[in-house]
Formats: sequence, C-alpha cells, structure tokens
Amino acid sequence: MTKDPYAWLEKSLTTIHRADWYRAVKTIAGRPGTKIILDGHKVINFASNDYLGLAGDERLIAAAIAATQEYGTGSTGSRLISGHRKLHRDLEIAIASLKETEDAVVFSSGYLANLSTITALVGTRDLILSDQYNHSSLKNGAKLSGANVIEYSHCNVTELKTHLVEQRQLYRRCLIITDSVFSMDGDLCPLPELFELATEFSCMLLLDEAHATGVLGERGSGCVEHFGYSGKNIIQVGTLSKALGSLGGYVAGSNLLIDFLRNRAPGWIYTTGLSPADTAAALTAIKILQQEPERRTNLWNNINFLKEIIVKQIISQQTSSKQIATSEQPNLKLLPSNSPIICFQLANSSTALKLGQQLIDKGIFAPAIRPPTVPTSRIRISVMATHELSQIQKLITILKNIL
Ligand SMILES: *Cc1c(COP(=O)(O)O)cnc(C)c1O
Repeated sequence: MTKDPYAWLEKSLTTIHRADWYRAVKTIAGRPGTKIILDGHKVINFASNDYLGLAGDERLIAAAIAATQEYGTGSTGSRLISGHRKLHRDLEIAIASLKETEDAVVFSSGYLANLSTITALVGTRDLILSDQYNHSSLKNGAKLSGANVIEYSHCNVTELKTHLVEQRQLYRRCLIITDSVFSMDGDLCPLPELFELATEFSCMLLLDEAHATGVLGERGSGCVEHFGYSGKNIIQVGTLSKALGSLGGYVAGSNLLIDFLRNRAPGWIYTTGLSPADTAAALTAIKILQQEPERRTNLWNNINFLKEIIVKQIISQQTSSKQIATSEQPNLKLLPSNSPIICFQLANSSTALKLGQQLIDKGIFAPAIRPPTVPTSRIRISVMATHELSQIQKLITILKNIL
C-alpha cells in the first residue's frame, strides 16, 4: 500500500480549524475608501492600510493609465537587462528626496525588499538582532540570510544591549532589524536608543517604515523624521502599497548601500521591474503627500479623536463597572499606539473572531487578528485621513452596544 504524500494537508487544515486559526479571503467590491462593500454588505472600513486615502484618488488612477498608455502593461524584463524605464528612476529619486537619503531602489514588494536586503547584507558569519514583534518579512529575511538570529523582547533595549555585550565580538557584521511602527500593535520602536546601541557596537540598523511612511514626521517621511534622525546612516525599508496607495517596496539609504544592493540583492536582480502603472501611481502619491500636508493633519485629528472617545466611552466604563470578562461580555484592553493602528486585545481567538463578526453584522469592518500573526488575539482598527468623525463615533457606539 502506498501512502498518499498529500494526506497531511487535510489533517493540518483540520488542526488550523480547531484552533480557530483558519482564514479565508473576503471580497471587496469597487474602489478603496472608508465605505466599502464587503462580501455584499455595506460597511465602514477600518481595515485598510490606505492611510491617506490615495489608493482610489483620481490623480493616481490617471497617472497609472497614462503610464500604461506610454510604456505598456509590463516592464518586460529585470531592471539590469531590459526592465528599466526613466519612470523607475524618477520614483527612486522621489523616494530618496522624501526620505532625505542619498539614494533609493524600488522592489516588487515590501516583503521582497526586506528578504533581499537582509540576505544581501549578512550571512553565516554574522549576527542579526531582531525585535520579537517584527513583521514576517523581517523574520523570514533573517532566517534566509543564514546569520545567527537573536530575538529580543519587544522594544527592550536593555535586553538588546546585554546580547550585544555578550555576542557582538563573536561575529563579523551585525544587523539590528525592527519595524518602526509595529504593524499589528501600532507602537513605535525606540529609535534613539537603537541608534545609540548600533553606533556603540558597530551594527547596521535596518528600520521597516511600512506603516510610518506618509504618516509620521512633519513632512510625512516616517519614523526616522519623527525622531529627528533624518540624514543618519540608517537603512530604511518600506512599501509603496500602504499610505502611497500603489504596489511595490523600496530601500532608501546611502549611495554605497543602494549601489551594493543593485549588484547583490537577488530579489531585485532576478525579478521583473515594477509595472509602469504601479510606478507612476506611487510617484504621483509622493507628490501629493508633499503638496497636501492637510491629509496628514486630518489623519492625526482622526487618530486623536478615536483615542479620546475610546478612553471616555469604553475604557472608563469598563473599569467602573468592574465586570468579570466573559466570552459574551469581553473586557477590552487597549494596546499602546502612536500611529493609525489601534488594537483592542482580547482573551482568545474565538472571542476576537466573534467580536469581529458582530462588528461586520452591524456595518463595521475592524478585523480580528489572531495567532500565528500575533501572540495574542485582538481587534485591529486602522484609521484613515478620509474617515469622517461621525464614522469613528459610529464605530465606538456599535462596539459599546455589542459589549
Ligand atoms: C505590509 C508590510 C510589509 C510588506 O509590504 P508589501 O509591500 O505589502 O509586501 C513589510 N513590512 C511591514 C512592517 C509591513 O507592515
């Protein structure tokens, strides 16, 4: 009798179901925005990374159409062979200018930018120090590089320093990697302390600015600008697919770094150049980001309004009524945040799933995020510049009613 070599798939899926970890796609119709049709239901959207509301902007759409007319739909080759257009270079120059770095290079996605950069920079003789809550692309990049990887507790610089004191001299190069805005929590990395340690122990420092670009800093440059560290030699990775409303990733840094990556990053060398449409849309988004700072002002007004009413209308009620949390009446714990990502931690996956579904039934899309994406289950809310205050109030009223 021969054993079916694929039989384990079904077993594995059953285990995933049993843990309430099973996931499936939901279909959204029409253009992105604060009001969407999700699986046929009208909902207010608190699940989008389109922080500035640019993914449905007429100007980005027009730029994508114009670029498609001029250059066609595909780049037809890798950048070093036949896939490079002036448009790509224009975008890289715009990114470098936004980031105040010497140069930048664009990748097909932020995920690929992290994988390729980390594997190009370090190898088996090297050390990576990685925040425990880092994005999957940083963690998998670290693994793939073959370097020795040590995870330090979330944002714990004391622990990071201990590792550096004990381990740094045993390795050739050392790379510290961290999200700048943690994608599933919304808090910020301790950049000043990280930079100081990186300098003291001669480590490279790579920040993933995926959720910070367009959102943080006076000019919307990101977390590096927010902390006043523009111009320092930091490797900034990011995505074109969140606040910039397009698709693709980038690395911004010194001329030497970018030149090295163009020669040594396999996920850039051996893959097709970004499509003309995506490139042009991202380039237009960066221009809008710089010309319309009021989008960022609106975003932060919305974030502050939401935090204020969460405390006034939910948190204060919970502590006063001293209820014991049950799965029917879960107590919500607000996780610390300095970004548009605001999370309520819940006891377990099934409570989070149930609350997420109840919210959808009432017209609010704020998804449950569960292990293995995060260590603890939560409802994750993303605020956009284009939300109206009444939509944010509705989210809280409905949440209160369910609780
Ligand atoms: C979304 C995200 C990425 C991946 O970016 P894509 O362009 O969507 O591949 C990388 N890092 C972090 C922290 C992210 O949130």
